[in-house]
Amino acid sequence: MICRNAKSALPDLLLDPGAASNAAVRAHVDSCAECRDELHSLEATFSLLDEWKAPEPSAYFDQKLAVLLREEQAKPPAGWFERMRSRLLFNTGRQFRPAFAGALALALLIGGGTIADFSVHSGNRHSVSATVTDLQVFDKNDQALQTMDQLLQDDGSTDDSAAQPGSSL
Ligand SMILES: [Zn+2]
Repeated sequence: MICRNAKSALPDLLLDPGAASNAAVRAHVDSCAECRDELHSLEATFSLLDEWKAPEPSAYFDQKLAVLLREEQAKPPAGWFERMRSRLLFNTGRQFRPAFAGALALALLIGGGTIADFSVHSGNRHSVSATVTDLQVFDKNDQALQTMDQLLQDDGSTDDSAAQPGSSL
């Protein structure tokens, strides 16, 4: 066995010194001083880790966390992305419509088009910072999402009845 292979097998040897699969490593360590040193330093590291204990959280950790959670819940959702995420997370009453995925794809397409549009005119927009540009893009995406949202709600009832096979015939 060469040293490189032996060294990568040292942790196994340390965790299970008696295993038959570690016999080759054991034999190599017995004959190779360098790998023996490596094994000993690894052993020291492992015993240090055994002594290490995770620090106890402070006495007020739970209260502080509860306050932070309440503050976060009281805040209005930040942007269109946050709103969409909370929609996905908390709006479990209604089942997902495949159309929603289509709306997302469309919003992405619109977003991409907007970015391309901005890059075309970027020559005479020196004063507009990248952040402002991003915000404008997000705003347009938000409008697109709201439009799709209304479309989805509008055809929600017809969508359900059309889902039954043969009912529209
Ligand atoms: Zn060796």
